[in-house]
Amino acid sequence: MKYSALVETYEKLEKESGKLKKTEILSNLLKKTPTNLLPKVVLLASGKIFPTKSEEKTGIANKMMIKTLSKTTGLSESEITGKFRDLGDLGSVAEECIKSKTQSSLAQKKLTVELVFNNLQKLSKIEGEGSQDRKVNLISELLSSSKPKEAKYIVRTSVETLRIGVAEGITRDAISKAFKVDKKMVERAWFLNPNYGKIAKIAKEEGENGLKKVSLTIGNPYIVMLGESAGNLEQAMGKYEDVIIEYKYDGVRIEIHKNKDKVLLFTRRLEDVTDQFPDLVKLAKKGIKSNKCIVEGELIGIDPKTNGSIPFQQLSRRVQRKYDIEKMTKEIPICMQLFDIVYLEGKSLLNKDYETRRKKLKETIKIIKGKFQLSQSLIPKNIKEAREFYQKASMEQEGIMVKNLKAKYQPGRRVGQWLKVKPILEPLDLAIISAEWGTGKRSSWFGSFTLGCLKNEVSDKYLACGKLGTGLSDEQFENLTKKLKDLVLEEKGREVKLKPEVVIEVGYEEIQESPKYESGYALRFPRLIRFRPDREKPNELKKIKNLFKQQFSSKK
Ligand code: AMP
Repeated sequence: MKYSALVETYEKLEKESGKLKKTEILSNLLKKTPTNLLPKVVLLASGKIFPTKSEEKTGIANKMMIKTLSKTTGLSESEITGKFRDLGDLGSVAEECIKSKTQSSLAQKKLTVELVFNNLQKLSKIEGEGSQDRKVNLISELLSSSKPKEAKYIVRTSVETLRIGVAEGITRDAISKAFKVDKKMVERAWFLNPNYGKIAKIAKEEGENGLKKVSLTIGNPYIVMLGESAGNLEQAMGKYEDVIIEYKYDGVRIEIHKNKDKVLLFTRRLEDVTDQFPDLVKLAKKGIKSNKCIVEGELIGIDPKTNGSIPFQQLSRRVQRKYDIEKMTKEIPICMQLFDIVYLEGKSLLNKDYETRRKKLKETIKIIKGKFQLSQSLIPKNIKEAREFYQKASMEQEGIMVKNLKAKYQPGRRVGQWLKVKPILEPLDLAIISAEWGTGKRSSWFGSFTLGCLKNEVSDKYLACGKLGTGLSDEQFENLTKKLKDLVLEEKGREVKLKPEVVIEVGYEEIQESPKYESGYALRFPRLIRFRPDREKPNELKKIKNLFKQQFSSKK
């Protein structure tokens, strides 16, 4: 299949902003894609080269791309950087540069989807000495055979910013439309086996019957069940007849997949973190009695001196770590707080209620105190008991989860069967979307940061909702500047527009309605709580709206 066919679709998708139209465009592409290429085309169409975060990344930063463009076109790196500053997108820079090259000087090999996909996948495998040059060569090989528009999208895919607004929901709907299968079935398959490439192929070849067969499998991460925010304890407790309350731990959600002596660990973002936590692997081998099962819980970090738990921010250092792992296991020991079991001895437990699953979990686990145990929980007899538990949980951890004992496990997103209750207004996870250079002694750092939420689930539009500028230490200003410098999209005077890739957890005193920001809301006194490297996207506007309303009702 010619890469140009995909490029035509990209162009249409970029121009169209309506969700329905986008779905139709993508669905038309899927219909004409040969079956064996569907997995690749589905990934490329959403700007990806790997199905989930658990796999590798291309590792191409803007700087390396500028070098590549210079090598391919003969233009100097500073000329290309200048164009980048003007256009704000390296894809458009590539398009312009290739356009201005005389065609004869560029080799004209026909670009196929396979060639582009394979070269881009190879990028992540290149490591060690000379890896930069080899990466540059691989992309340059593609760009030398590209027409201007093709170059635009190869570059955007390489730096992992496609900007055509194909979110998960659109891919789901397009598969449903192209192969005439129920949307809900596609979504269900995605939650259980999050790989739209594979799902599209199944939908085309086997239809709904095939999708029905998609199930939990040991070794493949699934999308976990989450809780919704609830106003206060009384409101949350009033939602269900049979309630269990549990500590809400400030850690990392982990799926433990055990198959005989093989244990795999996945985060909620589907990252494989088995290598990062050999201590947990050992505990799981010892503490899980069953040969084949998947259990879930929250992994928390422990302070070796006090034996108390440490904030998530500190534990997250271990999630990213690729070296000195043994040393880290001593510096930051862990404790697994288990709360669910979804698969046991070859059978899915998704359709069992929580009461039954907790019972099975208890039977399956050999508790290793302080290291591998069941989450603290209580089936409260009355609200007084619940309140006492809640107060203790809020002092020791983040608050509690109120769960419906009669609820099945529903993979994917927030489903209203688990409720989070926290003592303070919940912090927001927001992206840093722009920054402003500081003044005086801070003139070489960014001095204030505009925070943004996502417009909605399907959009990749970010809406400003506040500015973070005070309350940071010099070190934090410097660190943030370092983190953000690679993400600059456009610089206008002292304002710098950024790729919205850094997500931070923000606390605040109040949410106010405000015409000043695009979102219509402003956070009063926002403050940085921690970085959220585990979050790819910030919260949506809907969440700010809900919190705004909640705060209003609790004041009344
Ligand atoms: P949030 O990220 O605020 O939406 O909270 C959801 C997260 O709370 C989940 O992904 C879990 O990692 C975490 N969590 C902590 N303790 C529990 C618990 N007892 N039950 C369920 N989730 C929990």
